[in-house]
Amino acid sequence: MNVLFVKNLRFLDTTLRDGEQTPGVSLNPNQKLEIATKLADIGVDVIEVGSAAASEGERDAIKIISDAGLSAECCTYVRALKQDIDFAADYGADSIHLVIPVSDLHIAKKMKKTREQVSKMAWDSVEYAKSRGLIVELSGEDASRADQAFLQYVFAEGVRRGADRLCFCDTVGLLTPEKIASFIPPLTKIAPLSIHCHDDLGFALANTVAALKAGASCAHVTVNGLGERAGNTPFEELVMSLEVLYGYETRIKKEEIYHLALLVSRLTGVPLPVNKAIVGEMAFTHESGIHAHGVIREPSTYESIKPEQIGRRRRIVLGKHSGTASVEAALQEMKYTTDEHQVKEIVARIKTLGDSGKRVSDTDLMAIADAVLAIECKPVIKMRQFTVVSGSNMIPTASVTLIVNGQELTGAATGDGPVDAAMQVLRKSVAAVGDIRLEEYHVDAISGGTDALVEVTVRLSKDGKIITSRGARTDIIMASVEAMIAGMNRLLEGTA
Ligand code: MN
Repeated sequence: MNVLFVKNLRFLDTTLRDGEQTPGVSLNPNQKLEIATKLADIGVDVIEVGSAAASEGERDAIKIISDAGLSAECCTYVRALKQDIDFAADYGADSIHLVIPVSDLHIAKKMKKTREQVSKMAWDSVEYAKSRGLIVELSGEDASRADQAFLQYVFAEGVRRGADRLCFCDTVGLLTPEKIASFIPPLTKIAPLSIHCHDDLGFALANTVAALKAGASCAHVTVNGLGERAGNTPFEELVMSLEVLYGYETRIKKEEIYHLALLVSRLTGVPLPVNKAIVGEMAFTHESGIHAHGVIREPSTYESIKPEQIGRRRRIVLGKHSGTASVEAALQEMKYTTDEHQVKEIVARIKTLGDSGKRVSDTDLMAIADAVLAIECKPVIKMRQFTVVSGSNMIPTASVTLIVNGQELTGAATGDGPVDAAMQVLRKSVAAVGDIRLEEYHVDAISGGTDALVEVTVRLSKDGKIITSRGARTDIIMASVEAMIAGMNRLLEGTA
């Protein structure tokens, strides 16, 4: 048993409420249901699905999610207002996150009220919510700047009036583990306490862990650390920290973490920072020669957790830092047989590419290896012509004429944009020779400006085989087409 924490730590995920308050993020009820379903499946205890008072769409989301029969508790954010509480109850929420400003700053400047008035509102709301059959989590907003004696008084009376749980909100991210050690223990003696942290100074995760160590029993989190301003405590980071650093078993299905992160990123439109802990693109990617060498021999040398644990795979990329070991490993994976001399030459050519600022994709490596080994690669697909049209008041449309295995094929397709149309028509045209899927699409501008060289990287798959391919042009569409055709040719190799 882990003595640092209470026995059954709980997770309240607020991706759909605080996370949705990330500037620019808005989810419709069906998208919310999709995320909520995944959150429940992965093992989150409570899902804060939105703010009942915000809009009709928010209320629809509460209804749809509470009707879905998920294993998690369906919670909604409310202010100390009868109408908010009625919305929560009428639309089927199990519980409310009842938020009351508790710092004098918030009470005076935001609410323009007195401590007495705000406390009364809080307690009356607790009583009313209980009369409507709701589970109540009474939450102190800006609690870190509140007079802690006042906070304890509001909470104790709130619990006497029926509140089931309490929450300490570090609304602006001003807590420290030192403050937590003195603020949190008295509150946990009143009722089960949640901790809600923000990452304005990068302390959200550390503060959350400190609060759990101080006796809090539930952590408020968001997927990918979304949330107002700099965001909330990231779910994936907290789960993995508790497991790896503290040996605490969370009951979360960790192998689904990456999938959840991608789903949330896709539906919210907020990209994952490339170097984000656990779920960023680079979190399990190795390029540097010595590190890649170590990881190939023994992953634990340069990895704190195994990527498979959270449903990911390790990636070794090649570039100017690459050493012989990682190039050899990559060549072996691609079934090339090379001697020492040839590997040396391949490494040299990769470093030259890397020095000119380029990423080295699988197809680049294959092209280099083919050249060094003097292997003749006959492309399955050749492009004869390519046209794309797009503009206002029209659906982007692409047409292409390809020579596939010596046969001329012409096709057309529409898409969400000109690049999408281009990708669609290429996939459609080769469908007869192989079911090729576009797994990832990534653009880098090599320099600033509208005339910059654009590097497009695509990840394509066919029957479980995955390949990355690159195209570089000043024309983003042609760069995409080039990357796509190079990758397709590699995947279709030998199918002629
Ligand atoms: Mn918040």
